[in-house]
Amino acid sequence: MSTVLRLAIQKSGRLSEESIKLIKECGIEFSSGGGTLKSVAHNFPIEVLFLRDDDIPGYVADGVADIGIVGENVAVETRKKLTTVRQLGFSTCRLSIGVPKGMEFTGKESLNGMRIATSYPNILSDYLFENNIKASIHEISGSVEIAPGIGLADAICDIVSSGSTLISNGLKETEVVFRSQAILAACPQLSADKQAILDELMFRISAVKNAEKTKYIMLNVPDHAIKTVTNLLPGVKSPTVMPLAEKGWSSLHSVVKESDFWEILSKLKEAGAEGILVLPIEKIVK
Ligand code: ATP
Ligand code: ZN
Repeated sequence: MSTVLRLAIQKSGRLSEESIKLIKECGIEFSSGGGTLKSVAHNFPIEVLFLRDDDIPGYVADGVADIGIVGENVAVETRKKLTTVRQLGFSTCRLSIGVPKGMEFTGKESLNGMRIATSYPNILSDYLFENNIKASIHEISGSVEIAPGIGLADAICDIVSSGSTLISNGLKETEVVFRSQAILAACPQLSADKQAILDELMFRISAVKNAEKTKYIMLNVPDHAIKTVTNLLPGVKSPTVMPLAEKGWSSLHSVVKESDFWEILSKLKEAGAEGILVLPIEKIVK
């Protein structure tokens, strides 16, 4: 039987949708609906396992799965031996300290002597150790943010994305303890066959990620302005220039970073560009 790489992803939760989307954008077809627990891809040597996120680091470290997509917060907290293959840029969040709104808090030193409730005792204890803070950690598994209100703790250390849960529980965010995003993690010992499949997958993921923050731009430019406009559009190499049927005009095609787009746009118009079209790019192979 030929080798198959086993990929663990979250069954249902904040990582699931983006994980499935990424693999599908890599051109890998597999079914993911309903109560599927595992699914073999039709066109790539990969098998997808659907698991609870907390179980993914352990399965990958033990080699039950070869690779997995999981939050860095969970990967680090479990202290399993994993290789981080790459960060994936989604499911970003942070682990922060929250204290009651009215509490005087002058910096992390204020945590000395406090009882801090968290579901992340390992990450928190590393943070306290690194910052030379003596505080006690009170491990609870859920609804951490109510702990100060019911007298269980003085402060909390919990996941924050927008901060609204903290506010609605009368807390304020003070210190960021850990920044997290989804990562692709691998078992430290992969066979050569499996490593080769992972390399191909990584190549595809890079192509998808490179394309994510870029747009394809097409515009019409009077010939005398081609040089000015070309300088505004660095592109992958340099823009493609094609003559239009109308004399004295050309069509330019290039790639721009989304973050630069609005600034470039006004300059393009100033330079005389017209009929500007901007399209999404699916993949970029460098
Ligand atoms: P499971 O049922 O698989 O155990 P869960 O409830 O533990 O799921 P989710 O809430 O789906 O986990 O979160 C999964 C990951 O998404 C988190 O570990 C974290 O890395 C990331 N994440 C991003 N934003 C948030 C947020 N606002 N709250 C919680 N997790 C977030
Ligand atoms: Zn979980």
